[in-house]
Amino acid sequence: MTEKTYTLGDLSGWRQSSGTDFAVLGYPVSHSLSPRMHNAVFEHSRERQLRYFKFEVPPEKLQEALALFFEKGFAGLNLTLPHKILALPFLQSLDFAASQIGAANTLYRLPGATAFSGTNTDGEGFCRAVSSAFPQAGTFAELPLVLLGAGGAARAIAFAAANHGCRVLWICNRTTEKARDLADDLKIAFPSLQVFCDKKNLPANALLVNATALGLGAADESPFSPEDFEILKPRAVYDITYGKHVPALVKLSREKGVPASDGRSMLAWQGALAQTVWRSVPAEKIVNIMQEILEQ
Ligand code: NAP
Repeated sequence: MTEKTYTLGDLSGWRQSSGTDFAVLGYPVSHSLSPRMHNAVFEHSRERQLRYFKFEVPPEKLQEALALFFEKGFAGLNLTLPHKILALPFLQSLDFAASQIGAANTLYRLPGATAFSGTNTDGEGFCRAVSSAFPQAGTFAELPLVLLGAGGAARAIAFAAANHGCRVLWICNRTTEKARDLADDLKIAFPSLQVFCDKKNLPANALLVNATALGLGAADESPFSPEDFEILKPRAVYDITYGKHVPALVKLSREKGVPASDGRSMLAWQGALAQTVWRSVPAEKIVNIMQEILEQ
């Protein structure tokens, strides 16, 4: 039942939920693994009536949809592309993470509120995933970060890494202007952070992160060429894309003997952190359940 992709039409006739229903909203959303991850956690919990659904909501219907989800009593929502930024004007409030990043992926209810409030667990999810994947690589304060991409996920990662003490950051993006915009925003929030926006003079022993969409498709080429990889010689590689295949950058890294991970652990951590927001469950107690689902 929960694997079905629902629409706004289904929501109109939805029975009133007494804080037991959750959902992810996207366009498209049928590929989303969030219902399987969250429902697996619910099945392990004592509150067996909890359910997580996926809803396909076109961008022009987002405002109407958010109001209806609130009215129907949904306890929490996740937002995926393209709603993470589009939703902001329709929220009651944003916490520090969401306002710093400029996007929300997790919505929750505050007592007495008339609309959902928003936070962002993507960046913190990334930091937790990197620390678990590469425990020997060093802290964010010790590791220079080379970030590929300047879209929504890259923004979340850059701010979270800076919040975790990152001191030197290279942003390499196909559209250089977007990299510069992100660098400008970061410098306002973190005046002592050193940010560079090109592939010149890349640092030794860096953490290389792919936050571009390249890697999502099984046939996608690596977002970082073998030649650049040879020059950079990164200490570890985290590719936030994931699928049934091994992303090309992860394959390349492993061939070169560099520890590398795809983005499933970040997906699990951002989901586990969303449950902390909704249900005060410690993320580290449930993340393994989510990770097991993603490894099937
Ligand atoms: P987004 O805001 O649309 O940004 C896409 C980024 O990819 C931009 O930097 C874009 O560069 C770059 N890009 C797209 N096609 C490219 C190409 N052919 N060559 C080089 N660069 C290209 O998307 P997003 O929300 O940041 O998501 C990016 C990826 O992260 C997606 O694959 C998404 O599934 C994944 N993701 C994973 C998690 C997780 O939990 N593991 C969480 C969030 C997102 P331009 O600026 O030049 O267009």
